Amino acid sequence: MPLKKDPTKKFNGAVKGTLQSAYSIFTKDTFKLKIMNPQAPKLQAYYKLHKPNVPIRPVVTYRDAPAYKLAAETNNIFNKLTGFQPAHTIKNSLELLQKIQHLQVPEGAILVSFDVVNLFPNIPLSRCNKHTFRVFRKPTFTDTVIHAKSRHPLSHKHAAFHSMIHRLLSVPMSEKDFNEELCVIKTVAVNNGYSSKLIDVILRKKTSKAVISLAYQGHVLDPTSVNNKKWARIPYLGDLSYKCSRTLAGCNPAFYTTRNLSSMLCNSKDHTDINQRSGVYELTCATCNKKYIGQTGRSFRVRVAEHSSGWRLNKTESNFAEHLITENHKFDPHENFKALHFCDKGRRLTALETLEINKVISHSRDNILNQQLELNRSPLLHYFE
Ligand SMILES: [Zn+2]
Repeated sequence: MPLKKDPTKKFNGAVKGTLQSAYSIFTKDTFKLKIMNPQAPKLQAYYKLHKPNVPIRPVVTYRDAPAYKLAAETNNIFNKLTGFQPAHTIKNSLELLQKIQHLQVPEGAILVSFDVVNLFPNIPLSRCNKHTFRVFRKPTFTDTVIHAKSRHPLSHKHAAFHSMIHRLLSVPMSEKDFNEELCVIKTVAVNNGYSSKLIDVILRKKTSKAVISLAYQGHVLDPTSVNNKKWARIPYLGDLSYKCSRTLAGCNPAFYTTRNLSSMLCNSKDHTDINQRSGVYELTCATCNKKYIGQTGRSFRVRVAEHSSGWRLNKTESNFAEHLITENHKFDPHENFKALHFCDKGRRLTALETLEINKVISHSRDNILNQQLELNRSPLLHYFE
């Protein structure tokens, strides 16, 4: 049944009310549990192109839902107070392996599996009343990983092999199955332009690491090796990025590539209406073309309506409204509004606002209606002048 009205606003009001009346049970500031720009959760359908009749996988995004942070925090509090440990949940397939590898299977027992074919390694039952394990690959598996000649950081290129070898060492397999799996990994490497020696090197490193940690269980041999550094996100532009990363004292570089498939293919996601989003915006006076740059953590719609009503009701609450009133100039909230960046409230939003203000100032200092112009003069901003 279609709804007559979007209930998100009403629900958000209820969440705010709850936070206010129950503030004493939260250790965090309750404003951190509110969603600045709440949206109704969206249902998205992902096509399973590799399956007959192309079924869909429905996914609902709750990130911007009014109770998202409140629910997560309530869950934390519940877990802390009760020490709740789910008895029938496992983290991943390796944990499952650990739990069942010594399990004796009674005579005549039947293994029931509820659609876990795609999630867990194949678990064939053997005659000796114990489980045996092999690595299972879906029939749709192709041995394509990032090619050796591809312009990607080495850590990205080797990640697939690290994961495969980690699995090889973690799954208790017979010697025959182990060698077969090692052979598959080497074939994948060679088919993607790598030397099979790379696999031997990774395997040797991982094995010796495992042996050392087994021998010195829980003891840290070299305290300086404990890495408490923060991560810095750096675009990967070839060797230059490695050189830049060496200058980052106290930070680990986390490279990302800029030309990825999703940036080249069309995006079929149902986009949120621009006016419902938050970020940096530009308002232009319809009469004299002067500009006002602003930021908002709430929706553009709400913030622009505030500027507009300030002007109409003769309240000089914003510099922009004040300009319109004192100069008797005109403004159309639809025509003279432009969203410049989409971003949530935070330091990044403030940096983007500063950048946009500097861009306008660099053309002409008289062309801007913002009052506070002595902003952060980071030397990086010169690149945008
Ligand atoms: Zn004007």
